[in-house]
Amino acid sequence: MKCQDMEKYITLFINDRLSGIRMKEFIEHIEECDSCFDEMETNFLLKGALKRLEEEGSYDLHGELMSKIRNTKKCVEAHEVVTMLRRVMLICAGMALLFELVFVYAFYL
Ligand SMILES: [Zn+2]
Repeated sequence: MKCQDMEKYITLFINDRLSGIRMKEFIEHIEECDSCFDEMETNFLLKGALKRLEEEGSYDLHGELMSKIRNTKKCVEAHEVVTMLRRVMLICAGMALLFELVFVYAFYL
């Protein structure tokens, strides 16, 4: 993911409309690129401040942003675990099939 693509993704992220591989790439970029992080933080704080003015809620926007990033990372990690488990299950199924074929071949043919 390049810096010039980030503007679009920052808006999507802030509006909770980023998912899957895009979300993973976004978080990875944000964690390594200071200028995109600043850009995202400014956007998030601005949007949050405007919302707070309407609602008179809390002002810990930085805390909210950090917790949003943490939660997004957890989602990405959970997605990776599920993908890995799926692969392991496919490998097990493949081995079971292979074992069955060898067994059939060795004892019945
Ligand atoms: Zn960047």
